[in-house]
Amino acid sequence: MVAVTVILLVMPIRGAQAETETRTAAATGAAAGAAGERDAAGERAEAVGATGDLGDLIGLGDLSGLGDQGESAGAVGAVRAGNRPAVFLNGDREDIDAFFVDGFCYVAARPALEYFGTIVFWHGAAQTIALNSREGALGIHRVGEDVIVINGETKRLGAPSVMKDETTYMPITMLAALINADSFSRSEGENVIRIDKRFAPIGNLVSTEDQVLIKEVMAQVAELKNYNPLNFLAYLAYREANPELDIDQVILYVNIGVTKPPYSDIEIIDNPDDPFVVVDKNRQFAKDFAPELTVIDGFRWRREAGEAWVEMKAAARADGISLTLGNTYRGIADQRVNYNRKIQEGRSVENVDATNSRPGHSEHHTGYAADIRPIAGRSDNPIYLWLAANSYKYGFIVSFQAGKEFIHRYAPEPWHIRWFPLEAAAVMYEENLTIQEFENLYANPGRHGFKTNQETARLIADRIK
Ligand SMILES: [Zn+2]
Repeated sequence: MVAVTVILLVMPIRGAQAETETRTAAATGAAAGAAGERDAAGERAEAVGATGDLGDLIGLGDLSGLGDQGESAGAVGAVRAGNRPAVFLNGDREDIDAFFVDGFCYVAARPALEYFGTIVFWHGAAQTIALNSREGALGIHRVGEDVIVINGETKRLGAPSVMKDETTYMPITMLAALINADSFSRSEGENVIRIDKRFAPIGNLVSTEDQVLIKEVMAQVAELKNYNPLNFLAYLAYREANPELDIDQVILYVNIGVTKPPYSDIEIIDNPDDPFVVVDKNRQFAKDFAPELTVIDGFRWRREAGEAWVEMKAAARADGISLTLGNTYRGIADQRVNYNRKIQEGRSVENVDATNSRPGHSEHHTGYAADIRPIAGRSDNPIYLWLAANSYKYGFIVSFQAGKEFIHRYAPEPWHIRWFPLEAAAVMYEENLTIQEFENLYANPGRHGFKTNQETARLIADRIK
């Protein structure tokens, strides 16, 4: 395989401060990170102190003819501190914004990172950049901090990134670490900072199984609204463990959290009144949450669900099926009594968990769920068969279907139904989705808050194909 080398050159280094220094790091993240750390340490004081004055430091004069000057040692003196540096990629001057702060070089992060084959995600609310490299690295950085996390390993680079006019500028040492540069060097004599990055030519990125996975994931990022960059490494691991799955299934199941044991990583629900609210073994209602309920047909419901029930019951009767309610709303106190009674009967926690929710985790707590009699009957009961085929027409979905136990974490319950707005119930029925799957694909696919530049992601995906 022929390696392709991409070189980022930034000119100039301020002559008075740049020390002649050339270094080649091994092709590992740790090595590139270490190179950055060592380099940044020497410039820390100037860089940190100066970034507050950013407004004065960009928009400085362009250096025409810099490339020529850069060839000779005499050019060093001609290039004044604060002059706008030029960025060269593979020898061509690129329109990538860069500037010096007292000799410390900052580069516009997104275009430089994307040039090196990474997909960049931005989380505005968290002011956080996540990126996935073609080599399978996950990088996380919060703007304004000097810390990056690469594949779970924290590196401190001595100078923070800065934001100006919605563009993030990174110290070049940070960029080198994030792209896992093969080498990072600076030389006063050559008047350049130089990053080398080698990677396999486009189209031949298939030398190892991992690279196949990465290629597939990257190729689909542009198309998938539910892709979460923070799960990138988990996607790779899950795909490796489940090679029969398609990438879109891998992404869906990892997002849902099927790899986390039940009751292991519990989130408190922040949208309890949303008709699409998801409550399950790792999502819990706040202790004091109680929905607004109405008594319909002798039971407490959310109004929409109770009205749909009346309509469904009449339709079933017309089909010769008699539907009767077992129960509907159960709040946290009732659920606690219910759960504890079963434990006190001498059943194991595992056994009770298979068929019962712990307090705060029950779908009955939403006010949208009901159990239809007979509860815990044979799976071929005509009532269950009617519900499975017809309840969606009234907004009710059988929540705990057979075959989806690894998602909903209960033994199948063909008598337990949950109401959703009609269009959503129709999609769940037609595509055979649990609420967790529906949420990830349709209801709230961008739950993690990261956005990528879709056009760029698509371009990168096309190059990889
Ligand atoms: Zn139930």
